[in-house]
Parts: sequence; C-alpha cells; structure tokens
Amino acid sequence: MSDSRANFYDFTRDQLLALVSRWGFAPVHGARLWSYVYLRGTEDWRAMDELPARFRAQAESELAFGRLATAAETHSSDGFTRKYLLALADGRRIETVLMRYSGRVTACVSSQAGCAMGCVFCATGQMGFVRHLSAGEIVAQAMHVDAVLRGTGPDAALADAASASPHDRHERLRNLVLMGMGEPLHNYDAVMQAIDILRDPSGLALGAKRITLSTVGVVPGILRLAAEQRPVHLAVSLHGATQEERAALVPAAKKWPLDELMDACRAYIARQQRRIFYEWTLIEGKNDTPETAHAVGRLLHGQLAQVNLIPLNPTAGYDGEPTGRDAAKKFQAILAGYGLPSTIRQRRGIDIAAGCGQLAVAKK
Ligand code: SAH
Ligand code: SF4
Repeated sequence: MSDSRANFYDFTRDQLLALVSRWGFAPVHGARLWSYVYLRGTEDWRAMDELPARFRAQAESELAFGRLATAAETHSSDGFTRKYLLALADGRRIETVLMRYSGRVTACVSSQAGCAMGCVFCATGQMGFVRHLSAGEIVAQAMHVDAVLRGTGPDAALADAASASPHDRHERLRNLVLMGMGEPLHNYDAVMQAIDILRDPSGLALGAKRITLSTVGVVPGILRLAAEQRPVHLAVSLHGATQEERAALVPAAKKWPLDELMDACRAYIARQQRRIFYEWTLIEGKNDTPETAHAVGRLLHGQLAQVNLIPLNPTAGYDGEPTGRDAAKKFQAILAGYGLPSTIRQRRGIDIAAGCGQLAVAKK
C-alpha cells in the first residue's frame, strides 16, 4: 500500500470481524462492511450509510481498498477476452484476464510479479522473479474483474459497448484460474488466504469446483494441497514426457524430477478423489510428435487425468512455433487411445497477446 493503512482485501471475513471487535465495535458492523464491499462492490465510505459515522471514520483511518489501477488493457477482436495490465501500489505490473466463453465467466489472476521458475517459452519466466503478491493483491484482481462485470469498473462504457448480449451486465464472476503471472505454489500462504477470501459464502462465494490452480510442478506444494484437502482443482504443467525433455523446457524439473512429480500427482488424486488437468504447451517439432504423444499416454495411463493442449504463444525470448491444428488433432487422437481425454485450447484472442506475461513485456 502507498499509505500505512492495512489493505481491506488482505482480510478474511473472520479476521475483519475480529479487527472490528478490537476497535471496540460490534462485529455486525464488520459483517455489514464486508457485504458492502463484496456483495455491492462499494468502496466509497460515504456511500455506506447503513454504518454508523463513527465506525466508518475508524475503519477509514485503519483500512484502505488496495484496488489496482489499470495501466493498459486490450480487448480481443471477438469480444470474449479482456486483458488488463494492472499497477500495484509499488508500481510493479501484473496481468489479469477476463474471459467469457460459452456462458462461463472466468478471471485469470496472477500470483506473483514475474516468476522464478524460468520456463524457456514463457514471457513471465523470461522476465525473472520480481516479488510475491499479497493475498489482497490477488483478491483485488478478482474484484477488478467483478467491477468490470458490474459495469462499475474502469472500462464500464467499453464493457457495455462490446457486450455480446444485453444480459452481460448482470453476469457474475463464477470461475477463477490461477494461471496468470507467477507460480502459485511458490507463494502458497498468500494464495490460500486469497482463495479463502474469494470462497467466503457471504462474499464473492466462488465454488470449490470453480477454482483451478496451475503449477509448474512444485512437489511439496502439491503434497501440501492434498494433505490440507484444499478445495481447488489442480492443473500441472507437464510439457515433457521424460525427465530430460521436460527439464529442457521447465528448469524447475531439475529440482522436482518427473518421477517425484508423478508420485505426488498420484497421491493428490488418491487423497482428493479429484482429477488432475495436465497442461501441455505444443511446440512445433519439439514436443508434438506422435512418439511424444505415445510417451505422454504411457506416462499418464491409468491416472484420473485430462490433458489440456495449448499451442505455443510465440514470445520474443524463445525461438519456437506453435503446433498446427492437424498435428494437434493427431496428438489428441493418440492420447485418446490411452484413455486420456484432452482439449485443444482455442487460440482465441491471440490478437491481444493473450499469452502469460506477454502484455507486461510489451509495455515495458
Ligand atoms: N506458473 C504456473 C501458472 C502460470 S502459467 C504454471 O506454470 O503452471 C499457465 C500456463 O501457461 C502453464 O501451463 C504454462 O506452461 C503456459 N504457458 C506459459 N507461457 C506460454 C506460452 N508462451 N505459450 C503457451 N503456453 C504458455
Ligand atoms: Fe513461471 Fe508458469 Fe511461466 Fe513457468 S510457465 S515461468 S512456472 S509462470
């Protein structure tokens, strides 16, 4: 925060009520404040006229709404994807994406500024690690998207103009993916605190089945998610079917080798009774051959798994091309032969540089 006040968005509801009690006020005021913010999208203390003036003055002196300013935004030509470059209080920039496909409204949020994991084809990895985000900075990204959907956000006029249907204004944020900049399991505590806040039934109330966390394969983090039975879906970025091929694309594989990762994934599935989504960035001539598809099939055969195939978004720092549609389809057919369902992510909105970290790089 630019001032010394605490960030409202860092608090769970229980923590807020405890804080309010410490100030000497009845917790019910805290509950009402929570509703103003999360149910009505209000951040204006003067508009909270159901709260006593004395309480509002105290709260305003102690708490700030750490909203994120829009540094840049782009809308895909099909109107379904909006990408925001948001400025943190210290001027660092992160990306948040609003996606609206087939009735599903999803926010894709960042967990760190930059990333320490160094995946060779990733724009965020190419930028290196800057810092962890606080829970409040993660929550504020979802609130940014929520405000856009309510029509109170910074691009409200554009939101209306670009609406695919007149009902879009009433859409609510329902789904969240932690697939923006950063490695969420490298910032475990803040990410879990943010998820707790976003799931609060008297707040944004995101359902357990509607939050997906994507990891590069941080083995201790996967085991901890399972042990704590965290209510999230897990996506694991695989990209290579042997230790050697994977480590060439994902340097973090040297720390957490493929066999250990597979053990952790099997333990996760057994404990959580939930499938894992494996992400596979398809790079032409690199990891998209039929032999590789067979290797993936053998590796994942028998697991409760789904593979998401993502044709590479080219980045300045990596000399690679996306796999074409036919080769991707062939890859998919081979996986199906091993009983592995898969999807090929449509490269919708590619015209807005929809790849992870790519807007931040472009605006540097
Ligand atoms: N750090 C996490 C989550 C953020 S990246 C992770 O790595 O899983 C989200 C997904 O986008 C990952 O599967 C990642 O490998 C993929 N990705 C990154 N850069 C990409 C690019 N240029 N083209 C296609 N997919 C990319
Ligand atoms: Fe980090 Fe994920 Fe990018 Fe790898 S793909 S550098 S883990 S953000």
